[in-house]
Amino acid sequence: MSTLEIKDLHVSIETEQGTKEILKGVSLTIKTGEIHAIMGPNGSGKSTLASTIAGHPRYTVDSGSITLDGEDVLEMSVDERARAGLFLAMQYPVEVPGVTMTNFLRTAKTALDGEAPSLRTWTKEVKEAMAQLRINADFAQRNVNEGFSGGEKKRVEILQLELFKPKFAIMDETDSGLDVDAHKVVSEGHNREFARGEMGTLLITHYTRILRYIKPDFVHVFVDGKIAEEGGPELADRLEEEGYDRYLAADAATG
Ligand code: ADP
Ligand code: MG
Ligand code: MG
Repeated sequence: MSTLEIKDLHVSIETEQGTKEILKGVSLTIKTGEIHAIMGPNGSGKSTLASTIAGHPRYTVDSGSITLDGEDVLEMSVDERARAGLFLAMQYPVEVPGVTMTNFLRTAKTALDGEAPSLRTWTKEVKEAMAQLRINADFAQRNVNEGFSGGEKKRVEILQLELFKPKFAIMDETDSGLDVDAHKVVSEGHNREFARGEMGTLLITHYTRILRYIKPDFVHVFVDGKIAEEGGPELADRLEEEGYDRYLAADAATG
């Protein structure tokens, strides 16, 4: 079992108006075999948390820690984080002209594992995963993400998840812009990988709909760079009915 531990994390960015603190003390522990949903209004810092875990250079960690099985993640390069088992789709290039999906996936897998996957099993695995995600076979020979629709990009994110087998998957708004069918396909792909029992998931979403397919064990509500409330799946049901108004009113009252 692995543990990803975030402790009292404070993160800021430089803007034209000066330094802006976005995360104001976030603590969260995720173990493999657990699904944690982070929910919250737009601008509450959800993507900042995901980007900080992934090592995006834009975000400065002012204090606090992120560790993976006790190892300091903040000391790791973006590549080292991926090799340590952290997966965030954003880590991967949006479009790579002249590089086919097949070559990209194999190169990435080789970099992650430190050795090339056996060609015979790899080709079979890629084919099967693509078929299950209902990704057209001709995608394998197309350039990475070039001309892919939003829904196709999301399926390819999940394809990477299934092929790379990370310890922790961070899914930031994987559900945005998906129709109902794509929702199901993407969720089932996640759930297949999760069912192997060797992965933990941080599912970041503004909407509750995807939580019907990917069932969280824990729900954390983000408001203004902090966790405002935590609970089990019932909290997501409540948010579906009540929205975030309650938190926003409380936040405005306390400043
Ligand atoms: P969420 O994902 O919850 O919608 P974000 O983490 O994207 O929230 O943003 C949190 C806050 O930080 C917002 O006020 C947003 O405007 C600001 N912010 C985040 N990233 C940047 C950036 N690269 N440049 C300027 N402001 C940013
Ligand atoms: Mg976001
Ligand atoms: Mg406040």
